[in-house]
Amino acid sequence: MELLVENETGETIYRIKGAFFLIATGSSPHNPSHVPFDRERILDSTRLLSIDRLPKSLLVLGGGTIGSEYASFFAALGVDVTLVDKGKMMLPFLDQEISLHLQNALTKIGLKFLSGRIVTEITLGKEEVHTTFADGSELESEMVLYALGRVANVEQLSIERAGISLNNAGFIPVNAFFQTCVSHIYAAGDVIGTPALASTSMEQGRLVARDAFGVKTHPFPDFYPIGIYTIPEISSCGYTEQQLNDLGFHFSIGRAYYYEIARNQISGNDPGMFKILFHTETLQILGIHIIGRAATELIHIGQVAMSFNARIDYFIDQIFNYPTYAEGYRIAALNGYNKLKDRLL
Ligand SMILES: Cc1cc2nc3c(=O)[nH]c(=O)nc-3n(C[C@H](O)[C@H](O)[C@H](O)COP(=O)(O)OP(=O)(O)OC[C@H]3O[C@@H](n4cnc5c(N)ncnc54)[C@H](O)[C@@H]3O)c2cc1C
Repeated sequence: MELLVENETGETIYRIKGAFFLIATGSSPHNPSHVPFDRERILDSTRLLSIDRLPKSLLVLGGGTIGSEYASFFAALGVDVTLVDKGKMMLPFLDQEISLHLQNALTKIGLKFLSGRIVTEITLGKEEVHTTFADGSELESEMVLYALGRVANVEQLSIERAGISLNNAGFIPVNAFFQTCVSHIYAAGDVIGTPALASTSMEQGRLVARDAFGVKTHPFPDFYPIGIYTIPEISSCGYTEQQLNDLGFHFSIGRAYYYEIARNQISGNDPGMFKILFHTETLQILGIHIIGRAATELIHIGQVAMSFNARIDYFIDQIFNYPTYAEGYRIAALNGYNKLKDRLL
């Protein structure tokens, strides 16, 4: 098989032969043609990086990871931020209690969240940007961040010439080994769609290299951490409460609030919580959700425990350094386990 690399004028500059190929061209912000993007007032997450001043007001369209992260950065910097989403909550894929906790924390620093609104038009005024929604409502702001999705970078690849087409979401479909429908062409990272994280993309690429060179390897893990750098930050691993309800699991919940953790009391009383979901009979940990300072670091303790199928009482029987945020695991485990003690004795 041969890969042709062209320069900007369409001349072939390289012909690369190979037994295997990996498409890892990533993704770009979704830029619909009816939105008049510029580099100053109507921005996407890439354009936003070149602004040279803080606006007085910012309208963020989209309550996914990128929209929520930027909305919280700007709100923390004192900008008047409104975040709009068509759904009921920010970050709807998270455990709902954690999303609500974030919404409350952000409301306290002045962020306004408007749910159930679908954007229909964005126009540039003299000094401001006008945004219109399907329900007829309108908002004015100095800047708009359009964070409504990303698209696979496949436009210039001519993948159809290799027999590959995109799925309905616009990404390259792959099997469990990250092979496309053409078995010697792999695809990994953002170009295949969710989870579209740097962390997961790196691992997908490593698994592709192993598979292509015939090294026995493990499948991509079912559970991996998700880190969201909102203020406060969030990290989770495993099932959410909604998922466990939908799947019909018999589960219990242990919680620890940051105000119960000595290290947090010493460090300035930030808001936050640990939430551990575990099977009520087997006690196996099914999901861990943390919001608050150091959440993206703390999650790895729970992730490792989960990968060894640990039970909730594992965290009770371990001694944790004092004072540490990690003690939240023990407090949450005691909280959850104590709710069951009558049944277990
Ligand atoms: C604002 C923002 C914040 C993020 N924060 C996090 C985070 O905190 N943690 C996290 O895990 N992930 C985060 N991500 C996601 C992370 O950046 C991506 O998941 C990751 O970069 C995907 O890696 P990739 O190798 O698939 O693609 P990329 O890193 O995008 O790399 C693709 C490369 O291919 C090149 N390319 C594209 N088209 C062609 C072509 N036709 N020919 C040749 N080369 C081409 C591109 O120039 C680029 O260098 C964030 C993303 C965004 C947008």
